[in-house]
Amino acid sequence: MKKICGLLILIGLLAGFSVSAKKPINTLVLTGQNNHNWPVSSIAIKQILENSGLFHVDILTSPEKGKDMSSFVADFSSYSLVVVDYNGDNWPEEMKKRFVEYARKGGGIVIYHAADNPFPDWDEYSRICALGGWEGRNEKSGPYVYWKDGALFKDMTSGAGGSHGKQHEYVLNNRNTKHPVMKGLPAQWLHAKDELYDRMRGPGNIKDMLYTAYSDKETGGSGREEPLIFTVDYHKARIFHTMLGHAGQTLEDNPSMQCVGFQVLLLRGAEWAATGKVTQKVPKDFPTKDSVKMRLEYK
Ligand code: ZN
Repeated sequence: MKKICGLLILIGLLAGFSVSAKKPINTLVLTGQNNHNWPVSSIAIKQILENSGLFHVDILTSPEKGKDMSSFVADFSSYSLVVVDYNGDNWPEEMKKRFVEYARKGGGIVIYHAADNPFPDWDEYSRICALGGWEGRNEKSGPYVYWKDGALFKDMTSGAGGSHGKQHEYVLNNRNTKHPVMKGLPAQWLHAKDELYDRMRGPGNIKDMLYTAYSDKETGGSGREEPLIFTVDYHKARIFHTMLGHAGQTLEDNPSMQCVGFQVLLLRGAEWAATGKVTQKVPKDFPTKDSVKMRLEYK
């Protein structure tokens, strides 16, 4: 009898252990070309994700701009999450095919900042991002999409897609309290100094609008409430798109990514994209409507 009891306790302990010691989410960051400081942003992303204890991050770096891209082909099979931190030369056809397959089968994807700039003529990628900017985008890329009268508004006016005013601190406005990424997050929070993307265009297949921000004409903006953080409706994929996080000069001087709001949204969006759930509590140092909060060490 004693032996059986001991065995049962042992089984219980093992079961308990397997629940608490979850394997980290295997994550691949695609980077290597960008009009942004990708050596800083890709490391910042890796540190933010890994310092949470929830993720293991590999970084795949492309050849330099203008060089032969044929070696840039990822094996997505061992990853639950792909973070795109890339804005550069076209990917090889095999890479494009594998990325679309990964997405369509239900892969988790984070589109980060300028990752919504490249490949304006690659239709599937445009649909994976829902909205994009620059690189010749115009009315042929899809409508301008922004928040108007409490809903998403699609504006077919012609004109260039993608711009931003000067960098400044701005308030994010909550548009969804039920999505797993959003549970417990405040109605408004103040983001550290960053670009505020505006006049973005694209197919506009946004699934859940999470946060918008007002792009003030006084800072060179559009005068519209711009969609900045949302999920995308694309086959079975879970796609989290954040336009925040213009990388700074160094890891130490990188306010938009050192912002707690940026980090927490990235962490929650990444977990949701990978698993469909968010197990993280809203931290005590989350910014308020009036005060920016920083985690200088990305943890
Ligand atoms: Zn930028």
